[in-house]
Amino acid sequence: MSQGYCEKKSEGETCNEAENMEHLKRSSRGIVLDTIRKTERVARIDIANETGMSAATVTGISAELLSQGLIEEVAPDASPSDSRRGRPRVGLKIRGEAHLVAGVKIADRSAVVALLDFEGKLVGEFSLPLPHLKMSAQECAGFIRELMEAAMATNGRHLSDLSGIGLGMAGVIDAPRGFVHWSPSLTTRNVPLRQLLADTFAAAGPCPPIFLDNDVNLVALAEQWFGLGRNVSDFIVVTIENGVGMGIVINDNIYRGTRGCGAEFGHTKVQLDGALCRCGQRGCLEAYVADYALLREANISGEAFQDPNAEKQVQELFYKAKAGDVTARTIFQRAGKMFALGLANIVNIFDPKLIILSGERMQFDYLYAGEVIENMKNSVVQIDVSPPEVRIHKWGDLMWAKGAAVFAMEGVTERALRELSKNAR
Ligand SMILES: [Zn+2]
Repeated sequence: MSQGYCEKKSEGETCNEAENMEHLKRSSRGIVLDTIRKTERVARIDIANETGMSAATVTGISAELLSQGLIEEVAPDASPSDSRRGRPRVGLKIRGEAHLVAGVKIADRSAVVALLDFEGKLVGEFSLPLPHLKMSAQECAGFIRELMEAAMATNGRHLSDLSGIGLGMAGVIDAPRGFVHWSPSLTTRNVPLRQLLADTFAAAGPCPPIFLDNDVNLVALAEQWFGLGRNVSDFIVVTIENGVGMGIVINDNIYRGTRGCGAEFGHTKVQLDGALCRCGQRGCLEAYVADYALLREANISGEAFQDPNAEKQVQELFYKAKAGDVTARTIFQRAGKMFALGLANIVNIFDPKLIILSGERMQFDYLYAGEVIENMKNSVVQIDVSPPEVRIHKWGDLMWAKGAAVFAMEGVTERALRELSKNAR
């Protein structure tokens, strides 16, 4: 669940023995905190059993985490079954009030905010329509400040109550640098958005730390914390909305690639010199399964729609296909075949335990109909072990925002542990 608490030294620098010990101790604190978070309520001795640490180490680390207010003790469970097993044990749990974090998802037409306490409980939500479908970098930063101020006021809180803000948006994003190489939500490329946001927030007062990432990575985090990815070390999330996205979890960590663009599933090629994609290339998966691809096919066949809204038009086309319209059906059937090919490529490259098809679009079953899954199975390397399970998770923008809040929570936790480590020296 944790992204690792050890700071990397720059190339050429090595740690001395004391620093190594401190890094080890800091990651031990992280492991204890993660164990408490996963278990929700756990006795010290059970943490020792689970992690393989000594009881004395766990007691020492628990005392530090208690003194920082990150965790709290809970009264022993006095149920008869518990007391029969000996003296009831005091449990430890995450202290919800320790930190408040916000997650923001910039969607196609609106932005959604989720507020989580340190336990990961949803304590508030908010949304505002975007001023424009594409914003300049400055306009985007100003809008997010306005959005956050309104979200906090609506939930009876203030910006200064926040320990961190996580922000997820579509595009190619360098998360460690908080840098947007390209996003469909912005009019310009190469935007140092985190710095711009920090400057914009700072103009009105103290600015909480801001954490920025590609939105599908944050869906993968949300699946890991709250969804179908709980207790699964290796899984892939595929989202289909306006475009096609993918989040990769390997060994419990999000895999981001070296340039922040390691999971462009939508732009993997499924056809040589095929249909033109929004990215300017040909034959991308997205050019066959995204909204605009389906509607392009429909327009070629002269399909008439009642609603000018693209999202509604896809719905209309889907219902026509369901009602037996032959043209509409062939459009979805081809999209399903291409999607199956894309899924098979994922299985052949990663061999994950689980593939989660996630997002609102999952109300349209053409992407996971029996024949799509069957086509996928037929296109993967054949061995005598079942291919990965494919599960469907229908959820809306709030869950994307919760994923963004979890990203902020991980960053805030890392900072808290670093602080603890500094004070312990
Ligand atoms: Zn493309």
